Amino acid sequence: MKHHTRASLAIAALIGLGGAAAQAPAASIEAHLAAAKTAAGFDFTGTLARLCIAPQTAPGRDVAPGPAPARDTWIADPAKVFDNLYFVGTKLHSSWALTTSDGIILIDTLYEYASDEAIAGGLRKLGLDPANVKYVLITHGHGDHVGGAKLMQDRFKSRLVMGAPDWESIERSVNQYPNGKPKRDIVAADGQKITLGDTSVTLVTTPGHTPGTLSMIFDVKDNGRPLTVAYNGGTAFNFVNDVPHFDTYIASQRKMADAAARANATILMTNHSEFDSAVTRIRLMAARKAGEPHPYEIGREAVGRYFKVTEECAQVARLKLLQVSAR
Ligand SMILES: [Zn+2]
Repeated sequence: MKHHTRASLAIAALIGLGGAAAQAPAASIEAHLAAAKTAAGFDFTGTLARLCIAPQTAPGRDVAPGPAPARDTWIADPAKVFDNLYFVGTKLHSSWALTTSDGIILIDTLYEYASDEAIAGGLRKLGLDPANVKYVLITHGHGDHVGGAKLMQDRFKSRLVMGAPDWESIERSVNQYPNGKPKRDIVAADGQKITLGDTSVTLVTTPGHTPGTLSMIFDVKDNGRPLTVAYNGGTAFNFVNDVPHFDTYIASQRKMADAAARANATILMTNHSEFDSAVTRIRLMAARKAGEPHPYEIGREAVGRYFKVTEECAQVARLKLLQVSAR
């Protein structure tokens, strides 16, 4: 046990935690939780609740997807959200179509059961042709985001972009793809720009949620006014819960916070409504009056606070691990 304690303290020292934090983790945990609550305010209650209050503690197992839930539990109306960005997601999961002068860049593809109706059907309802989707950016290789990748690749010949470790995890999976896997295509690199016509998306590798998680920075237009989006690609703690994994996660959240600040991002988006209130914000658009800000335009300071919530909650979870191993 003594050995464990020393190892934990050594790890704490290595990542620059003060000695006080290692000696009094309970107080430190409270301080990080308080910082997370302050950062969340009323903007990011879903993220706070999921990460700080009820964190997940283990990765999903390699099992076949269950039966599709009833349609009325997930179906959502597609919507034009910015001049060049369209929502084709579900009540829980987001998929976004970024239109360019030379076709569409699709971000994330929902669960397989929802992808045909919500993405292909949603695009058609909005007057867009799914055959024009040239690139599909997959933030990470979990079933709720990669489910429609094979459909886009097979039916519309879209090019798929994903992080190398997540391509590998799909290739390794025995049970999760009973209807076939998407075939390895473009392997994302940190800082890579995916350019289509007049539009570029800059990829930021943010390992943590999965080893290959991709976040991104891109511009949208709101009635002609250019605005920058920081898109966080992976959020929950359903990875192997040990100190090194949390260190990786925390480093990535800081990295993405920096990228968002440097790009002057005033919009924060993710792939779950739970984290960025996508469905609620889209609903609010109906009540928007001329001159009012777009419901998604929260400002640079609030975007920074989002990454503070994810980081501080990860600090809480990390310190709890140290507390356990010091016992
Ligand atoms: Zn995930």
